[in-house]
Amino acid sequence: MAEALKVKFPSPRKRVSAMMEYHPPLGCRDSLRLDFNENTLACSPRVREVLGAISAGSLTRYPERAPVEAKVAAYLKLQPEQLALTNGVDEAIHVLFETFLDAGDELLLPVPTYTMYEVYASSTDAQAIAVQADDSLDFPFEKLMAAITPRTKVIAIANPNSPSGKATTRELLTAIALRAPQAIVLVDEAYYHFHGETVIDLVGVIPNLIVARTFSKAYGLAGLRIGLLAAPVELMKWMRRVLSPYSVNSVALACLPAAIDDETYLRWYIDDILAARTEFEAALDALNVRRWPSSANFVLVDIGAQHKEFVHLMREAGVLVRDRSADPGCDGRVRITIGTRVQMKSAIIALNNTMAALRQEHP
Ligand code: PMP
Repeated sequence: MAEALKVKFPSPRKRVSAMMEYHPPLGCRDSLRLDFNENTLACSPRVREVLGAISAGSLTRYPERAPVEAKVAAYLKLQPEQLALTNGVDEAIHVLFETFLDAGDELLLPVPTYTMYEVYASSTDAQAIAVQADDSLDFPFEKLMAAITPRTKVIAIANPNSPSGKATTRELLTAIALRAPQAIVLVDEAYYHFHGETVIDLVGVIPNLIVARTFSKAYGLAGLRIGLLAAPVELMKWMRRVLSPYSVNSVALACLPAAIDDETYLRWYIDDILAARTEFEAALDALNVRRWPSSANFVLVDIGAQHKEFVHLMREAGVLVRDRSADPGCDGRVRITIGTRVQMKSAIIALNNTMAALRQEHP
């Protein structure tokens, strides 16, 4: 139609036309979901109760986030002004980059890592610089330290990282923050609950440290879209200018206190996942499938040239897994989320059958 009428559409910003597209494969996921590192079961039953009690009238109001922010801040032993709730960590990353990255700035990314850093960086005028991990996928500390320049403005570190599952230490994160005082060091603790080590207590102590957390993983609230930023007040005040005051919806805000209060559910889920991870790793070892030690709710495995077929056969067996071959330094590698012990029993059967089929084809 537009062509027939010889209509010319207005163009987007130059940056946006060059922006990286990202379409996560979210369709047809009615199988065992071991592909997105979500909670694979359910959120706390207390959250379900809150959801059931939400009235139609309450949805007519704009969401008020401050009281919930104060509660979450107290829970994390932060001042309320140091915490902002966000529409998932994705919004947190977006807001942080929009706040701090200017033309001429450099963003350092130890890779492979979470894709959305690069996506949001590509909408800014800053330059993203990848710092490649070696084959161990250990955190490339020395290389990262060497890559810091006076132009370095943000260093984004997922800890534990995805897709490797590898974690780094407080000592190394602190050393990086001290080496680059002109830069924001974002420590993305999306998988914190499966690891247990944090730097959130250093927020406000190390002036350039910002921590992000999500409720999408252990808490099982990925569909509600809720995460947070913890930052010194002096940095948070700039990010609050960029952050929409309405971006966290009222249903998520109503549910969050119940999710946080139900520590019994959270502990149960984490313990079950960690036990399941040990059992699944043993199954991989028994099959001689190379894997990377994980501090998160997923394991990266090396399938090699048959990675596409592996993903396909697992899907046929009712288990969704994620091909990470396109990630830098990850050719042939597949990421498998860890579900509950019961779920992982069927995943192990699917894994055994799939590997047997692949090895029969290419002994
Ligand atoms: N950070 C990392 C390292 C992740 O892997 C993910 C999700 N896959 C996110 C952030 C996004 O979290 P959210 O659902 O809160 O946007």
